[in-house]
Amino acid sequence: MPELPEVETVRLQLMFAIAGKTISTVKSLHPKYATTVKTLNKKIKGLTIARVDRIGKLMIFAFKENNDVYLLGHLKMTGQFLVETKDKDLTGGGHTLSEDDYKKLPGRHSRVQFDFTDGTRMFFNDMRMFGYLHLVNKEGMLAAKSRFGPEPLLTNFPISTFTQKVQRSIRPIKAILLDQTVIAGLGNIYVDEVLFQTKIVPTRMGVEITDKEAKELVKASKQILEKAIKAGETTFQHFADTEDKKGNFTNQLKVFGRQNTPCLYCKNDIKKTRVTGRGTHFCERCQK
Ligand SMILES: [Zn+2]
Repeated sequence: MPELPEVETVRLQLMFAIAGKTISTVKSLHPKYATTVKTLNKKIKGLTIARVDRIGKLMIFAFKENNDVYLLGHLKMTGQFLVETKDKDLTGGGHTLSEDDYKKLPGRHSRVQFDFTDGTRMFFNDMRMFGYLHLVNKEGMLAAKSRFGPEPLLTNFPISTFTQKVQRSIRPIKAILLDQTVIAGLGNIYVDEVLFQTKIVPTRMGVEITDKEAKELVKASKQILEKAIKAGETTFQHFADTEDKKGNFTNQLKVFGRQNTPCLYCKNDIKKTRVTGRGTHFCERCQK
């Protein structure tokens, strides 16, 4: 499952590749999308992409001529947005498919095809089809946005609200940080990294987190996400952007996936356990 930094990388590439382009037609490449595509053609054919936004891992396409229609797109496990330029270059990204899947588009996992008036095309590919495309009005877009708490990347992140929410909770801090309504954008990998950096054991309850620690959690989240976005992150080898700039942030992970290897600080072995059902990596000695 891609984490926020990967989705942000895809968003930035899409923004660059399709903002200002006008949709000439939308084609369904799988029966599951027949109805959606019918609606898309009725509502967004002829409209120009104004921008590509994002909240959490949800992509939001906005249009120039109509601010009461938005396309929501979620990649989930295996989704991709690929844009084919006029000289057949690819941009965008998402889950990596095999080499063959890139050779000819639409490929066998292509579900929806957007044709632009300048001859370029965008494909929504999704092997396992957990991802989705939804057309909503402004109210629907705002409702979708309201399901997410603030992102640590915000310059005006509301630290006091976050601290209150954490300190009122008797859930483990790991579960609280994974809760997208409390703080948006941290997935399993980055929560482990944030807790390692702040030296907080993942099982500690929210009520036991101090004001100072809450502040440090937000700071570490921001630092780690920013670093990952900068590295053009690719989660494992399963996620790559299509310009083949393989991200190298996974090499910078300090605790995730490092079980049974020495802690970078104290040399004690990193432990792996499960907290709220998720694989969790931590150092027993450094994290209290
Ligand atoms: Zn340690």
